[in-house]
Amino acid sequence: YAAKTERNNAVIFDETSLASRLEQSELAATLACAADRDEFIVHYQPKVGLRKGDHLGFEALVRWNHPKLGLLAPGAFLPLMEDPRLIGDMTRAVARGVCRDLKAWKEAGFLSGPIAINLPEALLINENGFEILASAIREYDLDWHDLTIEVTEDVFLNRYAERILASMTRFREQNVSIALDDFGTGFASLLHLRDFPFDELKIDRGFVADIGLDSRSEQIIRAMVDLSRNLGKRCVAEGIETEAQRDFLLEAGCEIGQGYLFAKPMPGSEVKERWFKQSGTDRRRHGTELPD
Ligand code: C2E
Ligand code: MG
Ligand code: MG
Ligand code: MG
Repeated sequence: YAAKTERNNAVIFDETSLASRLEQSELAATLACAADRDEFIVHYQPKVGLRKGDHLGFEALVRWNHPKLGLLAPGAFLPLMEDPRLIGDMTRAVARGVCRDLKAWKEAGFLSGPIAINLPEALLINENGFEILASAIREYDLDWHDLTIEVTEDVFLNRYAERILASMTRFREQNVSIALDDFGTGFASLLHLRDFPFDELKIDRGFVADIGLDSRSEQIIRAMVDLSRNLGKRCVAEGIETEAQRDFLLEAGCEIGQGYLFAKPMPGSEVKERWFKQSGTDRRRHGTELPD
């Protein structure tokens, strides 16, 4: 009898894991058509000056508008995306969405500033990432300086580091600013910081969350801010949720950031209807002559 219970338990356990495996593989299967069905949408999170909260630009963050499950954050589906072709399709959808919105905002007189696109390593080991962005820019008659890119430290684990460097160099030739995302949580060595053409270091929000709680994280933040400054790179902090975090970062010398304290990622419609007006980037309302 005991054996049978055990067995039953084992079966139940298996069924549960089977169910979630099925769910995952179902998700992975529908993911393959998501780009074709226009299910990827872009949300925007402002980058602001920490001193005054002034608007500097945006980061584009993809969401999957799943027909049954609703809006999914990248954490729920990026790990299922292994096929570089699918990654390319998603990135094309993001780049086109960004350029379409940016074009409309410019035409309406809003000063958006550059928009950062997260580029995965799979699109940096060849020309694909560059071509995808180039064609979106062409399609909407924008310029390279309208976009920036963010890459994570994963690129340094890649055995094609040379090719990734070549890819980054192509962006740099167009004066596209490149940020190292989630700095301090991955595989970048100081050699990489020296040899790869980054303009910006983004302090991972894990460190920011520790401000006021863990003095070791605070010291690491100070060192990262100093390192960026000494290397002549911009320093941007992610995930700022409290005024205490912002004040610490400012005091440490970090002038730019993102986080719920200022704004959560929002759809393009909300950027246009609320954020531009609230952040004083609505040229029409203020009637001031601002440089292009
Ligand atoms: P990331 O590039 O480091 O983006 C920052 C993440 O932190 C975003 O999560 C954002 O919503 C979240 N965040 C921003 N401020 C706060 C805050 O104050 N508190 C907290 N708790 N979180 C905050 P999200 O949108 O879920 O994106 C997760 C990751 O997915 C991104 O991390 C990025 O690595 C990846 N990702 C997002 N969009 C794309 C994309 O279009 N392409 C690629 N390849 N990856 C993307
Ligand atoms: Mg990013
Ligand atoms: Mg980040
Ligand atoms: Mg992060």
